[in-house]
Amino acid sequence: MRVTPALRPAALSLASAVVLALGVSGCAAFSDDTASEGSGGSGDGLTVATAFYPLAYVTQRIGGEDVAVENLTQPGQEPHDLELTVGETAEISAADLVVYLRDFQPAVDEAVEQNAAGATLDAGEVVGLEPFADEDHADEHADQHADEHGDEHVGEEPADEPVAATPSEEEGHHEGDGHDHEGDLDPHFWLDPDRMADLGDAVADQLSEIDPERAATYAENADALRADLDDLDDALTDGLSSCERETIVVSHDAFGYLSKYGVEVAPVAGLTPDAEPTVSVLADLQALIREDGITTVFSERLASPAFTESLAEDTGITTAVLDPIEGLTDETSGEDYLSLMRENLEALQKANGCG
Ligand SMILES: [Zn+2]
Repeated sequence: MRVTPALRPAALSLASAVVLALGVSGCAAFSDDTASEGSGGSGDGLTVATAFYPLAYVTQRIGGEDVAVENLTQPGQEPHDLELTVGETAEISAADLVVYLRDFQPAVDEAVEQNAAGATLDAGEVVGLEPFADEDHADEHADQHADEHGDEHVGEEPADEPVAATPSEEEGHHEGDGHDHEGDLDPHFWLDPDRMADLGDAVADQLSEIDPERAATYAENADALRADLDDLDDALTDGLSSCERETIVVSHDAFGYLSKYGVEVAPVAGLTPDAEPTVSVLADLQALIREDGITTVFSERLASPAFTESLAEDTGITTAVLDPIEGLTDETSGEDYLSLMRENLEALQKANGCG
C-alpha cells in the first residue's frame, strides 16, 4: 500500500551521478550488501527502478519493506514521453532490477539499453499487450503523437538537467517516435487487474532470482497482491454487468483494457493526453454523445481538461474524472492503485447508469 514513502527523490548531482554510473558495474550480480553500495546507501535491501506509477505500485507490493522502489516518473508528471534526468539515468544504472514498459517511454528504453547493469523486466512481455480497438484510431494516435512533440513539457521542468542529447540525436529520436509505436499495441495494460497480478508474479520471480533468501516473502506478497486484484476484478465485473450505456467518452485512449467489462471507449485525444483533437473527431464525438445519450465526458488529473470541458459544454452534458492511473498527483497522494480503480468503477457506474 505504501509506495510513496519508500520512493527516494531523484535529485543527484551530476558529479555523484557519474560516480555512481562508473561505480556500479557488476554490483547487480551480488545480492543485498554489495548491491546497496552502488545504490547510494539505501540499507540492506535491493533497489528497483520502476518507469511509472502502476509498475512502482506492483513492485512495492512484492518487495515490501526490504526493497527500495525508485519511480522514474515523479508525482504530477505525465509518463508519456518522459525525459530522464542525469540522476534518474544513474538510478537505472545502479538498480538491481529495472521494471519498465518497452515502447511506452522511449527515453527509458534508451537508458535501459545503454545503462542498465542489473536485471531488467519488460512488463509488456509478461502481460501480453492487446492491440487498440480499431486500426484507424491507432493510426491517428501515431500522427497526433508525432504532432504534439513540439510544445510538450512546457512548465514541467525536471529537477535536474535533462540528459544531454546532440541536436541531431534529438531530432532523429523525435522523428522516429510517431511511427514506431510498436504499431498498434495499447500500452495501458494496468487498467486490467489480471494483468497487474501477472506482473506481480513476474516481479516476484525476478526478485527471487536476485535475492533467493527472501523468495518465500516475495511469493507470499505476490499471492496477497493477486487476491486484492481478484477482488477488484470481481467488483468491476459485477459493477459493470448491467448498465444502460456501454460507451464512455474519455480524454485520451487509455481505457481500452476495460473492454473486458463491456466498456467501449471513445477518446477525445489520441494516445497521449495532450494531443489536440481534430475538428472531425470532435464532430463525431458530438454525434455519438447525442445518439447514445451519453451523460458524461471524462477528463483526467494529469492532462489539461480544456478539450473535454468544451466538448461537454457544447453538448450540454457533465464532466467527471476517470483516472488512467498513469501517475499520482498531489490530489491523489493518499490513494493507491486499488482505491483509484474503485473510484473509477463508481464514476463509470454513475455515468453509464449501472444498476
Ligand atoms: Zn496513456
